[in-house]
Amino acid sequence: MTVLPAEATRPGTCADPDLAAVLDRVARIVGTDGVTLPAEETNGTEAGPLGPNAGTYRSRRLHAVVRPRTAEEVRRVVESFADGRTAARLHTHSTGGNWGLGSREPAQDGAVVLDLRGLDRVRDIDVAAGWAVLEPGVTQARLARLLRGTERMLNVTASSAHTSVVGNALDRGVGLRHQRVEDLTGLEIVLPNGELIRVGWWPEPGRPTPVYTHGLGPSLVQLFVQSSLGVVTAATVRLLPRPDALRVIRLNFGPDTVESATAEIRRWVSQGLTRGVVKIYNEAAAKAYGSPPGQYLAHVCVDGTPEAVDALSGIVTVEAVTSGLFSAVSDTDAGDPAADNHDIAVRVERAYAGDPDPTDTLFEAKTGHPAARLDEEGGFLFFLPLVPFTGPALARAHHLIEQVRAETGTRCGATFNALDADLVDCVVTMRFPRTETEADRAHRTLDRLYELFTAEGFLPYRLDIEHTEWADRLTPGTGARDFARFLKTAVDPHRIIAPGRYA
Ligand SMILES: Cc1cc2nc3c(=O)[nH]c(=O)nc-3n(C[C@H](O)[C@H](O)[C@H](O)COP(=O)(O)OP(=O)(O)OC[C@H]3O[C@@H](n4cnc5c(N)ncnc54)[C@H](O)[C@@H]3O)c2cc1C
Repeated sequence: MTVLPAEATRPGTCADPDLAAVLDRVARIVGTDGVTLPAEETNGTEAGPLGPNAGTYRSRRLHAVVRPRTAEEVRRVVESFADGRTAARLHTHSTGGNWGLGSREPAQDGAVVLDLRGLDRVRDIDVAAGWAVLEPGVTQARLARLLRGTERMLNVTASSAHTSVVGNALDRGVGLRHQRVEDLTGLEIVLPNGELIRVGWWPEPGRPTPVYTHGLGPSLVQLFVQSSLGVVTAATVRLLPRPDALRVIRLNFGPDTVESATAEIRRWVSQGLTRGVVKIYNEAAAKAYGSPPGQYLAHVCVDGTPEAVDALSGIVTVEAVTSGLFSAVSDTDAGDPAADNHDIAVRVERAYAGDPDPTDTLFEAKTGHPAARLDEEGGFLFFLPLVPFTGPALARAHHLIEQVRAETGTRCGATFNALDADLVDCVVTMRFPRTETEADRAHRTLDRLYELFTAEGFLPYRLDIEHTEWADRLTPGTGARDFARFLKTAVDPHRIIAPGRYA
């Protein structure tokens, strides 16, 4: 039997005897080195056992951080809390890189945090059939490395190469090819009662069933995305066909032509001239990509056979030039070592082609810090509304960001990710020095962004840990939230999983 260290049962850190008993049991499941208790209660301003977070959100009061290493350990840990006798609630993260939205912090006080970085096995992979079974600790860099030189690739995000594929998909993250939930085909979940189930598609030994998410009857995978109904211990993830050739066309335009230039780009998307997510960066966001000051930047990807890539980039380039809307158009930066932005262009193309940069060079250019130190050193907030993909709507988003700048003095970066011809994921970023004054200002700006964008109908699709109540505020009285609460009560009557996180 594992002997607990003195601190595991130290009076004062865990006043609730029921909780102390559960944490002792948990320490026997995961080992004493797999449990961290708070050295002292935080007073709301000090960083707790999770350390600081890049968003400078208040550190929540935690009872413990638990680090299981297998799905069975997770199952037994959840089962230990299942009777709801303790007041502690479980919050789960994968690699915990939810920067700008709360990092590893739960939404509410009184949580036990399940850190799933130790579940890091690629359990199975079939490149020919296009799937992998991943645990939450598997990073995009690791999976991409396994796929190098094969006919398949990963849908990579613009975040650190060392972030989780599963964790990002579970918060409806956005890759360079499409939203990551589209790649989730099956989930393994520990339910609040400690039962482990699998939903969606899972490989069957000896029977090559086609990869299909929905199964028969209600489609269950999405129930566990942005969800407080369970803890995900593995996922089946789609691997995309790798194109023979790929090019990213760079275009610049001035802020005064946002409406017409983005409408022109939208036409290319709707006519099928582009592949993957077109990214449009405002002046502040474009700087990290070597754009001239005061200019918007667009990345338009074309891929397929080499002949198709030549033809499509030729068509897009001619359309861009003849439109007269763009101040610069180039489809050769990545292929021309003499080009000003050659190095950046190569990294951008590689990412679209499923190859995240393990050195995180662009990530560091955007945040000013290495991923491993962003939580301690950085000041970074995100606001993520959806905007219709029309010229007037994107121009309006641009004006709202300018309005916020005039009101608060905060210059926000904005990236418009075109998810299809009708929908844009608008990523608004605030980067600030880690002083109290600047952090306060950034948080006031964030509140103002919520107010202004939602009044316009541009509603967020991911929430940070301080704005979780917006899930109720934003959903009109269709009965959907009541139904979600009904499901929560049925599946998790003691509300032991992630209260406040989207529920
Ligand atoms: C410069 C920069 C660029 C970025 N670019 C992108 C981008 O292109 N696309 C994008 O989507 N994001 C981006 N991000 C945001 C963020 O870094 C990514 O979404 C990142 O992948 C999230 O971290 P993670 O994968 O470690 O997920 P985690 O932080 O581990 O998880 C995210 C959330 O999902 C839930 N969750 C995670 N794991 C589980 C589980 N096993 N069971 C139940 N619930 C779970 C929890 O609510 C958790 O808070 C960027 C951030 C920065 C700073």
